[in-house]
Amino acid sequence: MTENNRLKLKGLNDAQKIAHTLTRLDEYWSLVMAMWENDVPRVQYILSVALKKGSSVQQILTTLEDAITGTYHPRGYSGDDLDLATLVYRLGGRQLMYALNHHLGLLSLHTLQAHSIFTSITPTIGSISPDQFDANINTLIITPHTNAVIPLQGHSIMMDEIALDERASHYRPANCVIGLCHSHSNLIDPMLHTYDSALRIATKLNEGEVHLGKEMSVMGIRAFGDDNLFPILAAPTCKTENIVTMMAILSMARDRWRATGAEAHFSPIFCFATDGDSTRRGAGHCLFVKTELPMTSKLYGTLSCMPGLNLATGDDEITLDFDYKHIFKHYGVLTRYLIWLPGQDKFSIMKLLNPDDPQDVPRAVELMQSIIALSKIETNPLLDGVAVCADMSAIKILGIMLESLLLPFIDISLSLQQQIELISCYCHLTFALFHMHHSAFMPHILFYDTQSMCKNICFCVAKQQKLDG
Ligand SMILES: [Zn+2]
Repeated sequence: MTENNRLKLKGLNDAQKIAHTLTRLDEYWSLVMAMWENDVPRVQYILSVALKKGSSVQQILTTLEDAITGTYHPRGYSGDDLDLATLVYRLGGRQLMYALNHHLGLLSLHTLQAHSIFTSITPTIGSISPDQFDANINTLIITPHTNAVIPLQGHSIMMDEIALDERASHYRPANCVIGLCHSHSNLIDPMLHTYDSALRIATKLNEGEVHLGKEMSVMGIRAFGDDNLFPILAAPTCKTENIVTMMAILSMARDRWRATGAEAHFSPIFCFATDGDSTRRGAGHCLFVKTELPMTSKLYGTLSCMPGLNLATGDDEITLDFDYKHIFKHYGVLTRYLIWLPGQDKFSIMKLLNPDDPQDVPRAVELMQSIIALSKIETNPLLDGVAVCADMSAIKILGIMLESLLLPFIDISLSLQQQIELISCYCHLTFALFHMHHSAFMPHILFYDTQSMCKNICFCVAKQQKLDG
């Protein structure tokens, strides 16, 4: 019973006290019944706000009653609420969002729009062309930052594919058919002038001269030290690009950054990053590993002093980079010895070694950390046998190697100096082992990708130091 009610009950006779209590109980019971019969939208949120404010029991009950009758709508929201609303909007569009807003108290589209940045990318219709890059760079990057103070940070271009519904659809703003592959769209006119336009496109699709995009090639630009990624290309692909066409696409992206004035307004492109796609790796190698850094370069003084560092870059000293998540995933190898680790059993190790989702980066990191922990276990030749000790000494080297690759990415207490030392340790160890054992030690491609990634880190640090000391 609240303090208020105790005060009210003072000065009443016993019969009046019993009558008052019964009335209160009746009110509580009505509320419980109402909550049972009606969904109270976001009841947990209402209670947590009320308790934080230090509301009395009576105030909380009144708020709940108002929520049931629909006269009170909780206004606050958390990051999770925004994420959930975004997901609902993406999956079910405006209609689902409206329904869930009214029925479950999910955020409205209006609130979501007020608190999120929505980007509308210009999709590629037909072949990939400079004007699509220009439109996206201008609308999504330059215009929103016209009056912003821009820190001096190098930029990275990244490219990957995302899943796409394999279908053609009508794009109203341009009255065109979209969803057709960019590589072969030069064979049709995507504009719907007449009924015959649609028939001609359908015929070309049936004849297999033009294809529906299997995936969407996406390209984005991000400044170092900034989490925002700005999309600059979304092009349906039938995955038939060769290295030459890929080189043309990458060069176009690089050149439009300068031509649109973005380079002058922001900062230059430091590197181009990709995953393990072989066409992009080939194109990236041709474009960005071709010229030795000249002695006249501002970077030469720093980088030429790093023994073993490959100094080949592309035009404007742009280097090739590989997504570290792609690299971590490829360490999804290993071994019966993990069962020695405390807290691991057959089932947990099967989970580590056979992840249901090959894209699961946290699990790959967990596996690498397990190997590092395993490598620190001491063995004794007399107790464990010579074979086990030989295996363990190999695992020790693997542990040191993985630790020097992983720590710079996950240990935020390291200084830049320590990070670079570890990366350098990783490069020299893997080079020595690869030199001795070739692909028996590590697949050629993984060796190339990891060395390129580490080299790019050294270049980007040196470039950023020159850009903004
Ligand atoms: Zn095609």
